[in-house]
Amino acid sequence: MSYCSILLPDAAELRLTRVISESDFLAVEVEVARAVVPCPGCGRVCSRRHSYYVRTLADLPSHGVRVQLRLRTRKFFCDARACSRRIFTERLPRTAAPYARCSLRLSEAFRNIGFVAGAEAGARLARQLGMATSPDTLLRRMRQFVIGNGWIPRVLGVDDWAWRRGHRYGTILVDLERRSVVDLLPDRSAESFAAWLETHPGIEIISRDRAGCYAEGATQGAPQAVQVADRWHLLRNVSEALQRVVERERKQLISATATLHQELGAVAVVRVPCLPAVSRLPSRAEQSSQQKRNQRLASYREAMRLRQTGSTQEEVARKLALSTRTIRRWEQAGQFPERAPVPPKRKQIDRWVSYLERRWREGRSNALALWRELRQQGYRGSRGAVQRWATRQRQIALPPAVSGVPRLLFPSPRQATWWLLQEPAARDGKQNAFVNALEQLSPAIANVAQQAREFVSLLRERRPHQFAKWLERNQAGELRGFVKSLRQDEAAVRSALTLPWSNGQVEGHVHRLKLLKRQMFGRAKFDLLKQRVLYAAA
Ligand SMILES: [Zn+2]
Repeated sequence: MSYCSILLPDAAELRLTRVISESDFLAVEVEVARAVVPCPGCGRVCSRRHSYYVRTLADLPSHGVRVQLRLRTRKFFCDARACSRRIFTERLPRTAAPYARCSLRLSEAFRNIGFVAGAEAGARLARQLGMATSPDTLLRRMRQFVIGNGWIPRVLGVDDWAWRRGHRYGTILVDLERRSVVDLLPDRSAESFAAWLETHPGIEIISRDRAGCYAEGATQGAPQAVQVADRWHLLRNVSEALQRVVERERKQLISATATLHQELGAVAVVRVPCLPAVSRLPSRAEQSSQQKRNQRLASYREAMRLRQTGSTQEEVARKLALSTRTIRRWEQAGQFPERAPVPPKRKQIDRWVSYLERRWREGRSNALALWRELRQQGYRGSRGAVQRWATRQRQIALPPAVSGVPRLLFPSPRQATWWLLQEPAARDGKQNAFVNALEQLSPAIANVAQQAREFVSLLRERRPHQFAKWLERNQAGELRGFVKSLRQDEAAVRSALTLPWSNGQVEGHVHRLKLLKRQMFGRAKFDLLKQRVLYAAA
């Protein structure tokens, strides 16, 4: 093999005749090595030449210089009587696809660059490396790529992922044995999952969330497969059931904290449990500034459109009732110039917070009295503001500070639930003391927590034979709702108690999918996103 043959996509298929150095690229003249070729119609070997022509193909760059292949391509007669093709062009399966404008290896490079860097950045990178291309070309290469080797997993994990949280969901399918993504579906429905299963027969085990559309889809599409309720979802469900009880008994949570604090000689800083997280509505000022921005954006887009269709700056300015200076500024900016947000007004009371806090610690907790004090000091804000501040302090329940005494935080119901669910050995000393205090104060919590811990250990240690008894014991208690949901999905829950499969790893795949989606700047079309996810998994 001569050194020059590395210039060729395939040294067996082609022969180098000449390399010509053009002004900004290399032209590589090649001819086909074989004397005889099979007819693509009938397969008969033909050697009677009809004509030839020169086909040009873009190829991989050489030392950063663009390379053009000039391929002397032959046409042959097919002399077989029965063949419908009388004349054909020879095929070069290892060099380029029929009618393609670039070599196979170049289009493969485009595809790989596209998948790794995305179309926009990828096209820029490719051009820097001496491969002339456009984002659209990279997108086409990515879409053309056929992924998948027809592999059908034995154990399948299915879960959803968010296109836009709370709006649109898709489905991710993972081979739990190979730990790789098998496919993505554009929606989250029993029908589409069932349809996918029907075209992928032979799956033995399906791990999915609690009873829902995936359970339904699995029953329809793969009735032979064993369904496994995902352990993580089961744990979440039982902790939610426990948390509801803890929330109901919130007063005991506070008392338990206080008891504990006394024992430890610490001061409780009580964080208010579960203040409803009300998402703040935009203020009137914010609304109007948003409106103004939208108007400005609409004018900006219209102006740029008019400029692109050939209107002068003056014409655009007249038409949109703007100054030519604005139009010029917009054009120079190259993109919509956002205005810096107006900082929120500093409130009178902000200047008095340290004074208020000091007085509060000294025991002055009457809002009206505080307001009077402030006014004497020169405060000119409203009484309401002082009242709101005091209310917030009461919610935080900042107790009088005693210097040198440690402060302890009051756990949220969620935190308390988590401690309750853990085995004593897994908690630290303070957590254990807290749980003991709480369980003494609230027999309801003690009982439910005991049952919930038992369920967790059945699940962790896979003890299916004790499951029926556990269900019976909790049939009528606080956990009855949870028990009912378990019974509705009993076969799958039992499988979770016997089989090792769960969707833990799916989480990681969903996370990677999110990163890819973000990299595509939210413009991801489903088919492309799917190509990238599967390419990454291949
Ligand atoms: Zn033929």
